[in-house]
Amino acid sequence: MFDSLSDRLGTVFDRLRGRGALTEADVRGAMREVRIALLEADVALPVVRSFVEQVTELAVGQDVLRSVTPGQMVVKIVHDGLVEMLGSQSSELDIDVTPPAVVMMVGLQGSGKTTTTAKIAKRLKDKQGKRVLMASLDVNRPAAQEQLATLGAQIDVATLPIVAGQMPVDIAKRALQSAKLQAFDVVLLDTAGRLHVDQQLMDEMQAVARIATPTEMLLVVDSLAGQDAVQVAQNFSEQVALTGVVLTRMDGDARGGAALSMRAVTGKPIKFAGVGEKLDALEIFDPSRVAGRILG
Ligand code: GDP
Repeated sequence: MFDSLSDRLGTVFDRLRGRGALTEADVRGAMREVRIALLEADVALPVVRSFVEQVTELAVGQDVLRSVTPGQMVVKIVHDGLVEMLGSQSSELDIDVTPPAVVMMVGLQGSGKTTTTAKIAKRLKDKQGKRVLMASLDVNRPAAQEQLATLGAQIDVATLPIVAGQMPVDIAKRALQSAKLQAFDVVLLDTAGRLHVDQQLMDEMQAVARIATPTEMLLVVDSLAGQDAVQVAQNFSEQVALTGVVLTRMDGDARGGAALSMRAVTGKPIKFAGVGEKLDALEIFDPSRVAGRILG
C-alpha cells in the first residue's frame, strides 16, 4: 500500500532537501510533481487540486524560502496537509449511549462488510469488554446469515437466531428486542450489499436506520477499488447518514487513492483499516501514522 506514491514523493523531496536555498520556482516545480504522483495514486481530482493549492500557498511563503532548511519545511507542510487530507485524528466508535448502541454496517457486496462486522465485534468484546450481538440483514445472498453465524462462533460473539423468510426491517426489530431483553451493550447490523449501488439497497438501509436509530453508520469500502471506491462513497454519503468509513484490504497493494480521497468525499472520518483476512486484522486508522508512512 502506498509504495509507489511513497517512492515518487521520496524522489521529489530528496531533491528539494539536497539544495540549500530554494526559489519559488523550485517549490512550484516540486508541487507539480506531487500533483502528478497523487493523481497516479488514484486520488480524486478535486481532492488533489485543493490539496496542491493549499500546500503550495504555504510552501512558497517567504518564511519558508528564507529559512535555514527550506526543503525540510516544505516536507513538513506536505506532511501536515496529508494528515489533514486523511482526517486529522483517529476517531473512536460512538457507542456511548444507553444500551444497546446500534452500529450499522453498509457497503457493496464483496467489500468485506461481513468480515469487518465480525472484526469490530471481536474488538469491542476483547478490548472494551462489551457484550455484542450481531445480526445479518442480508436476505438476498444465499448463506449470508449463516456466514455471520459461523464467524460469530469463531470469535465467541452471539448472533441473532435465523428466522427463514423474515425481511430486513423485521430482523432489525427482533435484534433490538433481543438485545434489550438480554442486556447486550452493542448490536451490529450487517446490512445487505449489492454488486452496484441501487435505489432498493438505499431504501432498505434507510428503512432499517429509521427503526434502529444507529449511533454509527459505517461504510465499508475496498481500498483496492481506487476511483470506484470513491464513487461508491460519494453515492452512499448522499443517501444515508454515514458516520464513518472502514477501508478494507489495506494489506494489499492499493495505490492509496481511496484512502486519501475518502475523508474529503464523505466528510466523515476513516475509523478503521482492515489489514488481512484474520478476524483480528483490524486497526484504528491513524492519519498521522499513515502520512508518516507515505512520506517514508
Ligand atoms: P461482503 O460481501 O462485503 O460481506 O464481504 P466478505 O466479508 O464476505 O469478504 C469478502 C472477502 O474479502 C473474504 O474472503 C474476506 O476474508 C476478505 N477480506 C475482508 N477484509 C479483508 C482485509 O482487510 N484484507 C484482506 N486481505 N482480505 C479481506
